[in-house]
Formats: sequence, structure tokens, C-alpha cells
Amino acid sequence: MGAQQKVVKSDQEWRADLEPQAYAVLRQAATERPFTGEYTDTTAPGVYACRACGAELFTSQTKFHSHCGWPSFYAPGDQDNVTLHVDDALGMERTEVRCASCGSHLGHLFAGEGYQTPTDQRYCINSVALRLEPAPHPGAAAAALAGQPDLAGSAD
Ligand SMILES: [Zn+2]
Repeated sequence: MGAQQKVVKSDQEWRADLEPQAYAVLRQAATERPFTGEYTDTTAPGVYACRACGAELFTSQTKFHSHCGWPSFYAPGDQDNVTLHVDDALGMERTEVRCASCGSHLGHLFAGEGYQTPTDQRYCINSVALRLEPAPHPGAAAAALAGQPDLAGSAD
């Protein structure tokens, strides 16, 4: 692992900064119960950021319905966003997925399951490890691309 973590905090700091369930998943590698997470079936366009440090991890473009009970992605937004670690804690070898920026546990990576996705991989990620940053309104994005002046002014 050559990548250097950008965000380093003590366990005490993480515990203070995170909701208890997020702390249990992100920092203690717990798994939320299936079909309970807020993003399991979310299809809204946007970017999924790390709930611990805010780094961009996944986008809605690679999210797919796996029916496994957790948000599933066939690829990270960028391969450098996450790090992979072999985990055989339960006697079966699995690949753990962690945030590259802060080292927090996100979920696991499974491959070769036969999902009809470009990679045949499934990044099975806990909702509570993520925070969806919704894409701006499509109209606003189109206007920005067209070089139109910002008519919205400053926010109140
Ligand atoms: Zn992170």
C-alpha cells in the first residue's frame, strides 16, 4: 500500500465526530443490517462521499440493483478512491474495501457473481459509511456548460 492517508485521527476523535452506527461500521468494520440502509435502493444522481472524511468514493453512475440489501457499485468513481485488503476474519476470504483518504471501513468487494455489469464486480458498501451529495439540478448544469451568467446571485 503506497498510498498515504490524508486524514488521520485518533480513535477518540472518530468516536466524537461520528454517529454511533457510523462509528461502528467505519472504524470497527461492523456491517449494517441488510435492507436497512438509507441508500440501498437510491437511484438519485450524485456522488457518494465517505461519511468519515468527505472524500469522493463512488458515483450514482456505477450503482446498480444487486438485491443484496446494501448499496452496490460495480466500480469506484476512481480506483484510487479506495484501497482493498484481504480479510479472512470469518474463515472465508473476502476483500475489504476501505476509504483511501482516511482508512475507514466501507464494505466488501465481491467478483464473478454473474451480475450483468461491465466489471462483474460488486462493491457492497454500507449506507452509513456513505453520504450522497446530490448532483446539481440538470438545468443548472446545462446553463453552466453553456456559459450563461450566474443569475442566482448569492445565497441568503
Ligand atoms: Zn474517508
